[in-house]
Order: sequence, then structure tokens, then C-alpha cells
Amino acid sequence: MVTAEKGNISIHTENIFPIIKKSLYTDHEIFLRELISNAVDAISKLKMASLSGDFKGELKEPEIKIEVNKEQKTLSISDNGIGMSVDEIKKYINQVAFSSAEDFIKKYGDKANDLIGHFGLGFYSAFMVAKQVEIDTLSYKEEAEAIHWSCDGSPEFELTPSDRKSIGTTITLTLLDDELEYLEQGRIKQLVNKYSDFMSVPIKFEKETINNQKALWKTSPQDLTKDDYLEFYRYLYPFQEDPLLWVHLNTDYPFLLNGILYFPKIKPDIDFNKGQIKLFCNQVFVSDNCEEIIPEFLRPLRGVIDSPDIPLNVSRSALTNHRTVRRISDFISKKIADRLKSLYSEDREEYIRCWQDVGTFIKFGSLQEEKFKKQVEDLIIYRTTYSENGNSETEEDSTNHNYTTLKEYLERNKEKHENRVFYCSDTDTQSTYIELYKKQGLEVLYMDSFIDNNYFVPFLEREYSDVKFSRVDSELDENLVEEDKGEIVDPKTNKTRSEIIKELFEKTLNKPKVNIRTQALKSETQENTPPAMVLLPEAMRRLQEMSALMQQKSMAFPEEHVLVINTAHPLIDNIYQLNKASVIQASGESSNEDLVKLMCQHVYDLALMAQKAFDAEGIQDFVSRSNQVLTRLTRN
Ligand code: ADP
Repeated sequence: MVTAEKGNISIHTENIFPIIKKSLYTDHEIFLRELISNAVDAISKLKMASLSGDFKGELKEPEIKIEVNKEQKTLSISDNGIGMSVDEIKKYINQVAFSSAEDFIKKYGDKANDLIGHFGLGFYSAFMVAKQVEIDTLSYKEEAEAIHWSCDGSPEFELTPSDRKSIGTTITLTLLDDELEYLEQGRIKQLVNKYSDFMSVPIKFEKETINNQKALWKTSPQDLTKDDYLEFYRYLYPFQEDPLLWVHLNTDYPFLLNGILYFPKIKPDIDFNKGQIKLFCNQVFVSDNCEEIIPEFLRPLRGVIDSPDIPLNVSRSALTNHRTVRRISDFISKKIADRLKSLYSEDREEYIRCWQDVGTFIKFGSLQEEKFKKQVEDLIIYRTTYSENGNSETEEDSTNHNYTTLKEYLERNKEKHENRVFYCSDTDTQSTYIELYKKQGLEVLYMDSFIDNNYFVPFLEREYSDVKFSRVDSELDENLVEEDKGEIVDPKTNKTRSEIIKELFEKTLNKPKVNIRTQALKSETQENTPPAMVLLPEAMRRLQEMSALMQQKSMAFPEEHVLVINTAHPLIDNIYQLNKASVIQASGESSNEDLVKLMCQHVYDLALMAQKAFDAEGIQDFVSRSNQVLTRLTRN
């Protein structure tokens, strides 16, 4: 028979409750997570006792029940778990739990908010929101008597007999006046959904089961279908596009860890600083991101990581240097690399489908982690203009792009341009250039993801130190131009045709910062080549891009650039002829001098247009000049 008893909880701090309340100030809500976790533990302990034969009674369907009484301002959590005997209450609640709560506060005090999971306060976290906590419990042990424990927030407690008949425990909180939000249906559901959704025991509230229960990551991958994974993703991240692929993590040595990581489709505004993976500890939600646990380049992955071996009572900053955490981080990148490797070798088509997004992770990972780089370096592919049936890729088959590795590219083009890679970074503005290369049978790689230009190309140049990377608009490869025979056409001045054209443009445009060159572009029909092209030499462009990046601006089009006049183009020849005639006619009435000027300007504008958008003034000039040229041309 339990005799009514009053006693003092054995603590050293005079009154721990104000401290509990103050030190965990912002996160009162976790009390519910703690009490539900205790209830789940109690239920699994009873199951174990039943399995071991320790408990011979009937094992009821496990269940946790949440009830509120708005009038009395009470919230109760009941379980049909193992229950507690008087001795256990005295030991676990009055001594162990209390002193561990005290230890926790002493150790972390005001810093508690920085702790990753705030775990450790357990049962006593109830005092963050309650002015009185009562336990009504009956142990599964045969001789046990039901007891009632009550404590009002002072170190004194009261133990009395209870008339409880069923095995299990009910914790009843009488809420403090400023914590009455925890009586609201919506708030309770929200908290259960946030913290305890994947607890394996049904949590009932107002007759309804309010938790999902199915922690998919704890299920063996063999028992799961593609739809299971997709459905789970949609549950975790509603209203998002489906993920591209996923990795199921499962290990119990040297640490315990389960999880599912998904590769999402990458949005242009992707933020590598913000993690999206949910961290759990034994199915209890801990945090919405585990930035400290997984490598930076994998942060935009989504899904769940669950490991009881991640220390939750250390500050976030301390976590990064924790040995187990570092091992977990390595483990995760290795598993991701393995998954990508197997996809690459087993389903190339699918790999290519995912490449645009997956490639960003691979590239960032290669930049950041030497170990990861070694694992994935052979998996890096590039879209190319090359096609196996000999024709270069055309617009029509753009849905079915061709991909190549860098090694393959270098090997294939060894004869034409050894250790030289031509790439483009923007298919729209560089299309003229790409076409030119394609027509001459030169292979161009598309390096058009946002990471390529600023980071990855320089990285590749460090990796392949003897290979030179040139963007299609940086210079004209010798394969693209005819040799200039340099025949003198004007014996008086000893000038070649090219020299005359060059001077004409220099004089007319009058732009000292534009470096004008003449070259004859190779082509079967010159109609298909541009009369002039603007080039941005590789080194200069990269420098400008870097400085723009550092100032977080987009690169302004550099005033200093190269203008190549294609001397083989009929338009240039026409201008040349017209100029020749006008020089002969001197300042005669039908002088074509002004038309020549307009045309030179126009050729330059057209070349610029392939590279950049015009501002309002530029457009106006262009339109008005077009009108003048057309008027002149239709005069006769
Ligand atoms: P922890 O759960 O970390 O051990 P707590 O302070 O939450 O610490 O709980 C202390 C102890 O009280 C538990 O270990 C358990 O023995 C007992 N206990 C708490 N809640 C329950 C419950 N609902 N049913 C049975 N025992 C419980």
C-alpha cells in the first residue's frame, strides 16, 4: 500500500524551475516532444518486457493519447507503456531526472538555445510551461500499486495512492497563464507534426490519430518502391517538383545512421548556405537543417538523416569539429558518390537526364573536397556539339543532346587542336560563334551552368595544367581562318587590302579602345559567316568577370575588346569597293563616303549585337542608321 508522502526533491539549486524557464526561453514547445518521447520509450519497454516473458499480461495496441481541458487549463499525455512503481518514481523522477535536469542547466544555462537539439532536459521540461505537473501511473509489475505524484514547481513533491486501473502513465500539466496556447488544437497538432510525426506509436488527439508514424528511412530499401520514396518526398516537401534521384543511407558501424537523401531539381536561386535536410534522432525531429553534419556542397539536398550518434547537447559550432560528425559527413559524401557512380555505369540515359542538376553538386563537390573529387572525376560530362554519326548537333535534336567526358574530347580532337578546349557559356549570345566552330567541324563544349564560368573552368585548368580552355568568342582558332596572302593592292601606298580595310574601320569608328583586326573566315559560302565579330580575349574577360563577381554585380560589357573584320565576306568587300570608288571620286557630288561610314558603323553594331543587348540609346542609333542606310540603298 502506498502511503501518502511528502518530500523534497534532491537538488542543490534552491529552485530549479525559474532557471529551467529562463534558460530555454525561446523553445518552450519542446516539452511536448520530450513527454511524447518518454511515452514511446515506455511503450517499447513494455513490449520488450512482454517479449522477454517478464510481463505476462495482455499487450494492448500501443497508443498515446493527448487530451486538453480548457476550463481546468490542463493538458495530459497518456501512454499504455511500462508505468512506474513508487520506487521508480522516487528514483527516476525525484532523483535521476531531476538531477540530470539540474546538471543540464548548470552546464549549459543561457547557452541552451545554441544547442542543436536541446535534448537532455526530458521530463522536467514540462515545467517550462506548467505550474503544476502530475503523474498518474501504474507499473506493469505484478505487485505494483497505482500512484499519483504531484509537484507545483517548488522542490517539494507529493506522492499519494491512485485509483488508476490500467498499466501506463498519464502526465497532466496545469499550464501557466502565459502558456495557454498549448490548449489549442491547432498548436498541438502542429507540434506533433513537427517533432513526433514519425514516432512509431499512434498519437491520438480528439479521437484522431495525428501522426504519420511511417519513418520510411528505417524501412529496408528492399521493401520500398520508387513510389514509396516519391510519396515520402512529397509528404516532406509539399508542392515541390519531384526529386531526380535519391540515396538510402543505412549503417550501424562505426556509428548508427539511417536516412534518405534526395537530389532536388536545382533552382537558379539555389542557396548553398541554407541546408534543407531534416535531422532526426531516433525518429524524433531535432532540426530543420543539419548544416554542420553534411558537407557544404550537399546542403541543397533534401530528406532525412537520423542518427543517435550525433551529439545533440553540444553547440552547433562545436559540432563541426566533432569526430563522429566528421566521419558521418565523409560517409555521406562517399555514399552519394557511390550512388552517382552506379547510376553513371548502369543507366547512362537517366544519368544524363539528371546531369544538369546533379552536375552542380558534382562540380561544387570536386572544388571543395579532394576525396569526393577523386571519386567522381570520371563522372563529369559535358554537353557537346559533337555527334557520333558525324554531323554536329543541330537544333532539332536539342532534346537529345550529346555528352562527352573531357578525356574523350581531348582524345578525339588531338589532331586538330591538341590540349585545347573550345567551350561556350551561353547558347543564346554565343550562337554565332558556336555556328562558326561547328561549320568548320570544330567541337565545342557547353559549359553553361552558373558554376562553370567562374569556378569550374579555372579549376579544370589547374587540374589539367597543360590544357587551355578558350571560350568560343575569345579568339579565332587558326582552323577557322584562311591565311592572309598579304598582296599589295595599292602600289602608291604599298598597302594590302586588309590594311586598307583595317584603317577604314579604325578611322570611321574612331574607338581607340577597340582593337580592330582583319581576318578571312573560312567558309563554303560567306553568306553564312558574319561580316565581323567581337572577341573578348579569355584572360581579360575572366579578370573582369572575377572583379564583377567580387563586387556582386553582373559584368558590364568591356569597352576594350577586339573587332575582327571578316575580309572574306561580300559585305566587307562591297564596303571596300565603295570606299575605293569614293576615294577616286574625291569629294564629287555622288560621294559614297557617308554611306561607307554608315555601313562600317552598322557592321560593328551587328557584331556587337551577337554579344550584348543594346541600351535605349544604342537601339535608337541603330534603328535610325538602319533607316538611313535603307533609304540610301533604295534611292535609285
Ligand atoms: P530520459 O527520458 O532522458 O531518461 P526523463 O527526465 O525524460 O529522462 O525521464 C526520466 C525517467 O523517468 C525515464 O528514464 C523513465 O524511466 C521515467 N519516465 C518518464 N516518463 C515516463 C513514462 N511516460 N512512463 C514510464 N516511465 C517514464
